Amino acid sequence: MIKCLVCDQEAERVLVTYMHEIVGEGAFFCERHAFDDGRERCPYCDDYGVEVEDEDSGEIVELLPTYPAGALDSEDSCSEHP
Ligand SMILES: [Zn+2]
Ligand SMILES: [Zn+2]
Repeated sequence: MIKCLVCDQEAERVLVTYMHEIVGEGAFFCERHAFDDGRERCPYCDDYGVEVEDEDSGEIVELLPTYPAGALDSEDSCSEHP
């Protein structure tokens, strides 16, 4: 299971850049903590799964994106939704 960095609950979101690349080694969050610290949500990406490998099980799981503060453009959307 991939855990939230903050609370150790199961993660549902992964931190990605504007271009949908995973940030660093991967920062994972549950729904409650996904948008803390100014992290941003693209309103069009709630059905966009980012494939992440669960290092414990080796399985590929799909997580929804969350974006670093300031990552989204003036329309509050990511690179897929100009
Ligand atoms: Zn959490
Ligand atoms: Zn988007």
